Amino acid sequence: MSRIRGRGNRSTERAMTALFRSNRITGWRRHPAYVFGRPDFYFSQLRTAIFIDGCFWHACSRCFKMPAQNRSFWEEKIRRNRRRDRLVARTLNAGGIRVLRLWEHDLERRTRRLSYLFSVLRARSAVLGA
Ligand SMILES: [Zn+2]
Repeated sequence: MSRIRGRGNRSTERAMTALFRSNRITGWRRHPAYVFGRPDFYFSQLRTAIFIDGCFWHACSRCFKMPAQNRSFWEEKIRRNRRRDRLVARTLNAGGIRVLRLWEHDLERRTRRLSYLFSVLRARSAVLGA
């Protein structure tokens, strides 16, 4: 397991940034302090927040393996992360902000979920004329 980080995953965010650039998707900010939960990417005109969840920290069902050591510590830690994810999503939704989530592995493997995210961004841009 890699080093413990407070939030996000820098290499994943860099990969996302590169994808936005190559797809000519603009208008995003990273971790804006004025948006609850400080999403990894936020499109203010589109009112859309993107979170890229680490497969370990958020216990992705496809990649996650519970460490053998300190099991109860990790269970609690991950439970807290997931509870926080739900709170952030509910709060943003209530404020009219759409939340899109990706797993770290969606970026690494260029899954359909990643294409879906791009299609939603394009559709929202078209509708809002952004
Ligand atoms: Zn995963």
